[in-house]
Amino acid sequence: MYPPKFGYVIPDSVNEANEFLEKHEDAKALAGGHSLIPMLKLRILRPSYLVELKGLNELHYIRKEDGKIRIGALTTHYEIVKGNLPLLSQAGSTVADPQVRNMGTIGGVISHLDPAADYPASLMAMDAVVKIKGTSGEREEPFKDFAKDMFSPDLNPGEIVKEVIIPEFPGYTFSYKKLERRAGDYAIVGVAVLLKKDSGVIKDVRIGLTAVNNKAVRAYEAEKILLDKSPDEKLIEEAAEKAMGYANPTSDIRGSAEYKKKMTKVMTKRAILEALNR
Ligand SMILES: Cc1cc2nc3c(=O)[nH]c(=O)nc-3n(C[C@H](O)[C@H](O)[C@H](O)COP(=O)(O)OP(=O)(O)OC[C@H]3O[C@@H](n4cnc5c(N)ncnc54)[C@H](O)[C@@H]3O)c2cc1C
Repeated sequence: MYPPKFGYVIPDSVNEANEFLEKHEDAKALAGGHSLIPMLKLRILRPSYLVELKGLNELHYIRKEDGKIRIGALTTHYEIVKGNLPLLSQAGSTVADPQVRNMGTIGGVISHLDPAADYPASLMAMDAVVKIKGTSGEREEPFKDFAKDMFSPDLNPGEIVKEVIIPEFPGYTFSYKKLERRAGDYAIVGVAVLLKKDSGVIKDVRIGLTAVNNKAVRAYEAEKILLDKSPDEKLIEEAAEKAMGYANPTSDIRGSAEYKKKMTKVMTKRAILEALNR
């Protein structure tokens, strides 16, 4: 319940935050605080300083330009839900509860990289790109590479996530299906589906899975089954079965590995059906 002692820094700019974080490698950026503060309260972490990002307006925006949507790292779950964004708005509406959604940020989620977080399934499906800023400049990296492993973002000392970039996906339909024990809980399984149909034929389809691996994955082989086909029940069943093959879950308080694997198939089927019928 009681965090350890730490120093607290309020930088005036992202540059200043970069410089401070580079100089103090055990300092931690503070965004929405809804993963970091709980860890401090359990004393899982003992950073020397917290570097407050919240006041840095240069990280707080949603912009649509040139077929891309740029989401500033400090954009909250609540703002994403209200933003009418493909897939992400639906995924955001399932994150935690209203209080957490008011504070938590997309930059915080992907820097923390809980393997059961909701956005990563969608970010994988959408080929999202992460813009990262450090003292020596900015770089962009596909989310699939940025997410190296659970709780392991590809961030060098002093770097912070500046922006998440996703394509607009005009004419696509989508679905994020989350299986949870109760409202407000992390996913047992989360499946994101994004697809485009033309005269009943699937012209593009992307399927992302969360909570069933160390990090979110894309079920490419399941996508191939649906591509350029008019989907019927048998085909959807086949694709969902293939998606299940991508799940390598662990048994925990949310269920056995076997149950989670089976539910990957069930949730994939539901997500495909919802996307097709939207
Ligand atoms: C009760 C509860 C239930 C929850 N349920 C869910 C859920 O169902 N699904 C879900 O996805 N999440 C859930 N969460 C997590 C929530 O979404 C957090 O808000 C999120 O994981 C972290 O975002 P944050 O802005 O709060 O980050 P913080 O807690 O401030 O930071 C988390 C980590 O990221 C780093 N960081 C933050 N921003 C940046 C940045 N821009 N650049 C570099 N590093 C940065 C911090 O240093 C820290 O290491 C839950 C949290 C709580 C408390």
